[in-house]
Amino acid sequence: MRIDVISLFPEFVDQCAGFGVVGRARERGLLSLHGWNPRDHAEGNYRRVDDRPFGGGPGMVMMIEPLRAAIRAAQAAGHVDDRPPARVVYMSPQGRPLDQAKVRELAALDRLVLLCGRYEGVDERLIRAEVDEEISIGDYVLSGGELAAAVVVDAVARLQDGALNDAESAIQDSFEADGLLDCPHYTRPVEHELGTVPAVLMSGNHAEIARWRRMQALGRTWARRPDLLDEAALSPADRRLLDE
Ligand code: SAM
Repeated sequence: MRIDVISLFPEFVDQCAGFGVVGRARERGLLSLHGWNPRDHAEGNYRRVDDRPFGGGPGMVMMIEPLRAAIRAAQAAGHVDDRPPARVVYMSPQGRPLDQAKVRELAALDRLVLLCGRYEGVDERLIRAEVDEEISIGDYVLSGGELAAAVVVDAVARLQDGALNDAESAIQDSFEADGLLDCPHYTRPVEHELGTVPAVLMSGNHAEIARWRRMQALGRTWARRPDLLDEAALSPADRRLLDE
């Protein structure tokens, strides 16, 4: 997969995506990341990328032309014959909240362009003309879209085939497959002053372990995120457990 990031600080996203699973995915050639600075596409001695908002008020607004030129350069660089242009996503607090289903959808694409705003945001006309989708990483306001883009890159990279050493681990994660939260995890030592590992996990009885994990996942989801249960894939046995 190829991801192009349009940002005044493209090196920020690049560095965020240099470690662990994402760094490995890049080393393995499963993901390539390319930064495009709109300032490189701005005109004049000052290479201006922002200007004052019409109508007055505080802050600055990112201008159309440097952003449009950067998006076009990214599209051209990643163009493959007969393939449609990359989907352009504007990272925005006003977008659809990111969830694991959206991450899976994005991870299945060949290409993606992530547009990061700064200041008060981006000229609305550019969003209407060049952006396919707006995505938010939560109901709070960041100073720029770079952290949000890094979140998308990370979540999407770990879903690339071969990125995780054990592909099973992604399937067991929260929000995956059945839509529940993950069960708790333990490792050595068995005995510790902070507590003892639940005996069932050392029983060697795989059916009992699976049942315990399922109960924990159901219980946690019920206690922490009951909203997820409406959409979760639950068996009749799961429902009986939840009714108890
Ligand atoms: N004035 C804008 C508003 O209230 O909708 C906020 C602008 S914010 C200070 C600057 C940039 O940060 C935005 O253009 C966007 O790219 C990014 N950003 C801020 N919060 C975000 C969030 N929750 N999710 C994704 N991107 C965000």
